Amino acid sequence: DSFGQAGLPDEVLECCKNFNKPSPIQSHSWPFLLDGRDFIGIAATGSGKTLAFGIPVIMHILSKRKSITSKKVNPLCLVLSPTRELAQQISDVLCDAGKPSGVRSVCIYGGTSKGPQISALKSGVDIVIGTPGRLKDLIEMGVCRLNDVSFVVLDEADRMLDMGFEPEVRAILSQTCSVRQMVMFSATWPPAVHQLAQEFMDPCPVKV
Ligand code: AMP
Repeated sequence: DSFGQAGLPDEVLECCKNFNKPSPIQSHSWPFLLDGRDFIGIAATGSGKTLAFGIPVIMHILSKRKSITSKKVNPLCLVLSPTRELAQQISDVLCDAGKPSGVRSVCIYGGTSKGPQISALKSGVDIVIGTPGRLKDLIEMGVCRLNDVSFVVLDEADRMLDMGFEPEVRAILSQTCSVRQMVMFSATWPPAVHQLAQEFMDPCPVKV
């Protein structure tokens, strides 16, 4: 129940310097996520869920990047969000949290020009945060390559399916590594979300 207990490097904890202690969703999820396990969190906005997955995402990148020297890299982590507002919020938090460790991210969403998003992808990013529609476009154009993605976050999974993004979500997931860590956050637990989790996640139930 303290930040020290998580055993995280100082530069990764920099983004938490104004908080007293991990929020409940953070202290419950970090032990699993930092251990490389899949995790489903039923949590609402305001619970601190962005850093609940954001800090493990950054740690995943730091552990994978150790042996990589080239600057132009394919993304290792993908965060899917149902709306562009949420994608931007997540992106702001992850940009800030990743900066002290040199972790780079890009936010991909529709309704705006593709140019800057394509340039960012071409220059090399570690994390892609995006909405399903635009992301699928950029994958089909060949500018977004997810074949090195080994950590996937589905945020607001229930809303993503309610908005009809299931085909895009499935198509996008099929582009990522088959051996990957996956995290799902959802405010509710309807059958469609349960089904998606069953298909794409490693079943290893632990009660907390
Ligand atoms: P989220 O649920 O990720 O949208 O976060 C909601 C708000 O909680 C944001 O303003 C965060 O900066 C803040 N927050 C995240 N983690 C903590 C924490 N451990 N203690 C206090 N506030 C936090």
